[in-house]
Amino acid sequence: MQQIKNFINGEFVNAESGKSFDKRSPTDNRVIAQVSEAGRTEVDQAVAAARAAYNGEWGSYSMEKRVELLYAVADEITRRFDDFVAAEMADTGQPKAVMTHAFVPRGAANFKVFADVIKNVPNESFQTTTPDGKGALNYSTRVPKGVVGVISPWNAPFLLMTWKVGPALACGNTVVVKPSEETPMTTALLGEVMNAVGIPKGVFNVVHGFGPDSTGEFLTHHPDVDAITFTGETRTGTAIMKAAAEGMRDVSFELGGKNAGIVFADSNFDEAVEGIYRSSFLNSGQVCLGTERVYVERPIFDKFVAALKSKVEKVKFGRPDDAAANYGPLISHEHQGKVLSYYKKAVEEGATVVIGGGVPDMPADLADGAWVEPTIWTGLAEDATVMKEEVFGPCCHIAPFDDEQEVIRLANDTAYGLSTTVWTTDLTCAHRVASKIEVGITWINSWFLRDLRTAFGGSKQSGIGREGGVHSLEFYTETRNICIKL
Ligand code: NAD
Repeated sequence: MQQIKNFINGEFVNAESGKSFDKRSPTDNRVIAQVSEAGRTEVDQAVAAARAAYNGEWGSYSMEKRVELLYAVADEITRRFDDFVAAEMADTGQPKAVMTHAFVPRGAANFKVFADVIKNVPNESFQTTTPDGKGALNYSTRVPKGVVGVISPWNAPFLLMTWKVGPALACGNTVVVKPSEETPMTTALLGEVMNAVGIPKGVFNVVHGFGPDSTGEFLTHHPDVDAITFTGETRTGTAIMKAAAEGMRDVSFELGGKNAGIVFADSNFDEAVEGIYRSSFLNSGQVCLGTERVYVERPIFDKFVAALKSKVEKVKFGRPDDAAANYGPLISHEHQGKVLSYYKKAVEEGATVVIGGGVPDMPADLADGAWVEPTIWTGLAEDATVMKEEVFGPCCHIAPFDDEQEVIRLANDTAYGLSTTVWTTDLTCAHRVASKIEVGITWINSWFLRDLRTAFGGSKQSGIGREGGVHSLEFYTETRNICIKL
């Protein structure tokens, strides 16, 4: 049985209390690791180590030296690619192809991209006129925030955690990471990588545990944490924002979504079906950017529903390393219960189940896994529960629409504002619609096409702030202005 320890000041350590919790496999519910649960003591130690590194060796490094080390981190992740793929598959139960094509390469890229960003960002300066005519020069510098608390979720654990650790370190901060209790493995491996390439002790620390009354809360309330970056549920974000208010700490939040996909009758039909299929069902629907509300222009509505159903029918459930399978379980029994309760509620509120709606029959060795069927509904009112709340499972509701203004109104009728997809061959219409949808990112004739240099984040209750490219510097650094009288 694998033992997963906290990583504090360059050492793997068990919690002083001796407390630990089980990590279970999503595919068959076996206990696959024992994880040491960090208490207040370990959180204090991790924050103190991060502070000492920030004030010490790491803080004394030039930007070039940090950049060199972050490139080495990315290269070491790539060298240990198979270890990261195996760990991420064990943690999430998702198909190997998702890990090898997206989750692990993106984890490595997150270190190189932000190393490049920090190398190339200019500072502003202004020539200022003064009453005596001699003038003044204003220029700005960027300084790191200090010790950054990173709280990350389970749905794409390595990618989402490194998306924060990469820029935080590139900017010269040190970090204490609390990964999700559901997915501790790749964060632990990253500690080995940091030591292997010579990142100084205390720069990167990991504390494992839960959220409320546990590690997450101890970290976010810790007075020596200067800023908190969080990805997860909007409700959790609210609790963390309250914690950050103590001491007026800055927050960056990437939260939930209830994203709309809009398919016009003139779209490339096959591409739209494929795009909506991926955006609704990839990673078993556990993607914040996923589409849970689909609006299809009426002339192609029936054909679209039939085509999406036929793609879902071909899903093959199985273990991550089963080459014949292309579909994984949900992360846990707890999440399975939540998703199934939404499935039940949808039917109670009048949904027509086009396909799915329950738990698939699985062979005996997988029967205890957190499996649910990918599900398509039609016929729900716009105020039905699954039209308003994020399910975060493999499901979507498809509704017809008749005109552009109507679909814009429907897409915006949500408390969330993360992303949308628009499918049309009329680019003027696409621009018009994109300009009116209240979200952080709109994809036209595509989905999840990410350029890490672009701004990423949510509007409304889907987030606060933007990360990505130079936008990450807004959160991971502070700008100082220096004014010289000439
Ligand atoms: P979650 O909010 O339950 O947990 C996220 C992390 O917060 C975990 O590490 C958890 O232990 C910790 N946590 C929970 N309560 C806490 C507290 N009170 N104080 C401190 N830490 C606490 O989210 P999840 O279920 O892991 O992830 C799924 C959610 O994340 C979905 O809502 C999804 O949309 C969202 N998400 C958003 C993005 C984005 O970029 N906007 C990306 C991925 C996931």
